[in-house]
Amino acid sequence: GPQAPLLELRNLVVRYGSITALHGINLKVQAGELVTLLGANGAGKSTTLRAISGLIHPVGGEILWHGGLINRLRTERTVKLGISHCPEGRRVLSRQSVADNLALGAWLRRNKVAIASDLERCYALFPRLAERRSQLAGSLSGGEQQMLAISRSLMARPTLLMLDEPSLGLAPRLVAEVMAALSQLHRDGLTILLVEQNAQAALTIADRGLVLEAGSISAGGSAEQLLADNSLQASYLGAN
Ligand code: ATP
Repeated sequence: GPQAPLLELRNLVVRYGSITALHGINLKVQAGELVTLLGANGAGKSTTLRAISGLIHPVGGEILWHGGLINRLRTERTVKLGISHCPEGRRVLSRQSVADNLALGAWLRRNKVAIASDLERCYALFPRLAERRSQLAGSLSGGEQQMLAISRSLMARPTLLMLDEPSLGLAPRLVAEVMAALSQLHRDGLTILLVEQNAQAALTIADRGLVLEAGSISAGGSAEQLLADNSLQASYLGAN
């Protein structure tokens, strides 16, 4: 319906065999928001993104996109809906060039003019990639590979960009560079769901945050509230 959030998880349950990774979580993302999902190793953050993008199907609850149920859709269908998932670990194709990796991000699209203009937007967002467009992706630095992975996700022209720990393994200066780029995309109107262990960095650019703990949401609030929360400071924010 017209009042429905862009994305909503209702009482979502996900299992891997006998292990329950998500114990009925609730989450809403409104169009235009930058929401961050925080939590320790193994809390279920990656699982949440995998369920939304259709890599794994929930055993209970609902995934709603514009109010419509999408629980059973596979990844190709969720990409077509406008959901782009940038997985953990920057899986770029190392033996292909930067430009070829980006072209692959647009695999479901036909409009060559629009694809070319999105390519230029990626290069404007990450000038390091523009300078290295002919270079093999495998020879990029870790930070540059992360920028490429994000750009490849953008080439699908998503309505919702979901990122899994884009700051992982990056030097502080590059973390700041990646966060600045995400903040720019947010200001340009893109809706973002950002999974991070680096809560400090994520809350600096997010509107709101949720904390996952052992498969359940344990806290949530505005970025300002979470940054000011002393108990969260002790358990998560100081850890980085
Ligand atoms: P990390 O930051 O370490 O990736 P996370 O918050 O993203 O952590 P998940 O990767 O979603 O956590 O894992 C949630 C739980 O599900 C963990 O207990 C994990 O061991 C388990 N799990 C994840 N993937 C599988 C799998 N393929 N098979 C079995 N258990 C899994």
